[in-house]
Amino acid sequence: MITVEEALDKVLSHIKLLGPEKVSILEALGRVIAEDIDANRDIPPLDNSGMDGYAVRSEDIRNADPNHPVRLKVIEDLPAGFISTRTVGKGEAIRIMTGAPTPTGADTVIPVENTTKEGDFAAILKTGSPGENVRRAGEDAKMGERVISSGDLIRPAEVGMLASVRRSFVSVYQRPMVAVLCTGEELVDVDGGLDEGKIVSSNSYALAAQVKDCGASPVQLGIARDRKEEIKEKLLQGLRADVLISSAGVSVGDYDFVKDVLRDLGMEMVFWRVAMKPGSPLAFGMIKEKPVFGLPGNPVSSMVCFEQFVRPSLLKMMGHRQIFRPIIEAILKEEIHKEPGRRHFVRASVVFEEDHYFVTTTGAQGSGILRSMVKANGFVVIPEDRKIVRAGEKVKVQLLNRNF
Ligand code: AMP
Ligand code: MG
Repeated sequence: MITVEEALDKVLSHIKLLGPEKVSILEALGRVIAEDIDANRDIPPLDNSGMDGYAVRSEDIRNADPNHPVRLKVIEDLPAGFISTRTVGKGEAIRIMTGAPTPTGADTVIPVENTTKEGDFAAILKTGSPGENVRRAGEDAKMGERVISSGDLIRPAEVGMLASVRRSFVSVYQRPMVAVLCTGEELVDVDGGLDEGKIVSSNSYALAAQVKDCGASPVQLGIARDRKEEIKEKLLQGLRADVLISSAGVSVGDYDFVKDVLRDLGMEMVFWRVAMKPGSPLAFGMIKEKPVFGLPGNPVSSMVCFEQFVRPSLLKMMGHRQIFRPIIEAILKEEIHKEPGRRHFVRASVVFEEDHYFVTTTGAQGSGILRSMVKANGFVVIPEDRKIVRAGEKVKVQLLNRNF
């Protein structure tokens, strides 16, 4: 058995970045951009008002205060979206709205709160220095400046910036198609008839959901019974996708045919079995250029293996720089016992209280118990060599929730 680190190194060394595709900027949300974006003009394009108020000449109002207001003649009303043709002369002002380009002659904007209206005149109650409340052309980005770099994640702010530089379509890295096959004589689909001895193939959905959750596209191949021909036929279909995932049938049971069939299909086995719990009977290999993950069948084992190995792989294919879940340190609230030798991923719930993270396990940890996974927002990661971790100890927790 190899360690989690060795396995991860081996997996990631086989994973290649996918090519780019053009998508609309809203579709680019959550994707990684595959081109550099430079501002193609100044943003904003013109000097403009940062306030609703009056555009004036600062020298005219040098001594203004509430006891000595300066009266200026208002020569125009300027909403946003229009350019004034007038010049502000001595003793004059233009009523101006936020975002309207500042007129020539004026060098400052006095907010309306610091003025009173007197017919055609405005009484200015406060001074303003040159440039005050004026937003300069190019203050956000100058023409030619790099605003987004290839490899950046597109978040809502980047979408706004792309619109600002008038890009409606951009190049992003493609999302892999990920084929998911569940194998097992006992499995039926969620709506299928549940004869005695059968169980619902929850993995068909949990794994597809995990694929979707990282931004890739699941292709559900359904269920294959534990028969070589059937597994082979479905896996062959799956090879049309970019990544192939199977669940179950990779242990040492009498009907565990998945590894044999993968070998028949020409898979070069990179490793089988990892020193972890849950999830140790994980197989990974390549069929030509395609990564193939043979995940264990137990619902939590397959999800944990997906988290540790498949998710980082899919994120790498899509160009993400941040491919691992965040890890925090938390104070363990209870004692945990384990056998030494394997790294344990213990389903747990983290809370933040009084400046510290605290973590408790979410119940029974059997590899078929999905309830404790449902309640979990992270995994306590317990090193291979440990036997007992005591309450009050600091432990590492891998966080599962994006918005934690
Ligand atoms: P196996 O890896 O075939 O030995 O399966 C291990 C355990 O996982 C068995 O109890 C199976 O019934 C269960 N299992 C296998 N595949 C699935 C699946 N798709 N959904 C839910 N449980 C499964
Ligand atoms: Mg089985």
